[in-house]
Amino acid sequence: MKLKDKVAIVTGAASGIGKEIAMTYAREGAKVAIADLNLEAAQATAAEIEAKHGRAIGVAMDVTDEDAVNRGVEQVVSELGGVDILVSNAGIQIVHPVEEFAYADWKKMLAIHLDGAFLTTKACLPHMYKAGGGSVIYMGSVHSKEASLLKAPYVTAKHGLLGLAKVVAKEGAKHGVRANVICPGFVRTPLVDKQIPEQAQTLGISEEEVIRNVMLKETVDGEFTTIEDVAEVALLFASFPSNALTGQSMVVSHGWFMQ
Ligand code: NAD
Repeated sequence: MKLKDKVAIVTGAASGIGKEIAMTYAREGAKVAIADLNLEAAQATAAEIEAKHGRAIGVAMDVTDEDAVNRGVEQVVSELGGVDILVSNAGIQIVHPVEEFAYADWKKMLAIHLDGAFLTTKACLPHMYKAGGGSVIYMGSVHSKEASLLKAPYVTAKHGLLGLAKVVAKEGAKHGVRANVICPGFVRTPLVDKQIPEQAQTLGISEEEVIRNVMLKETVDGEFTTIEDVAEVALLFASFPSNALTGQSMVVSHGWFMQ
């Protein structure tokens, strides 16, 4: 087991990619905290993990609320004994052309993706420093490297995570804390399923065309990336044994973006 007795907090883990990462970490021996806006769903995911693999708890956390983040992290430390791994994964998507984007929606997107990453990192680092090591993983996107129509705040925020990871990698190095970014292509989760009809309507094309000609057009094989693909990269970043792998971003996208 690659993560035996490690403690991991995964935000936005009641659903989609975060849920699969939490499952994978638990399978590898970690104790996991499912931190999500939706407490009921977080507890249901934790119960699913406990039935299959081992220790998991659901934690109520709005990643944009500093008090809620600090309370949630303290709960994890007192119930599970520390924090070794943070996966800052919670995210949403809102799509509009720039000239029609409501300022409130722009701010909401940056708050969840960037403030959430900052606040959870800030709350977890002292525990990692005290323990002498840890791994911080940000859920970026191919949109950390590329742009797409209609996604101004998402692309802006996902690019921003690369900068945050590099600073945390530099500051954390002497404490044995690494920071890296995972950059997935399109993965069929509720977040993407919601976008398909929205984009079809905004772009005036069919849902099939959104999938074929927008989402998967640049991949090498027309395939979606899977939650399992992303969880494998999250396991690599969490379990890597030294500072050799820090300040990096890894794209997992069926070749949509090649660096
Ligand atoms: P999802 O909608 O399945 O899950 C997102 C989870 O985040 C939900 O459980 C939701 O309750 C939670 N959440 C939302 N706002 C929150 C908040 N303020 N505080 C705490 N939790 C909150 O989405 P997903 O596709 O699994 O996305 C997870 C991450 O992966 C996001 O950061 C997303 O940008 C990124 N990503 C997704 C894809 C994709 O194609 N699905 C591709 C690249 C990157």
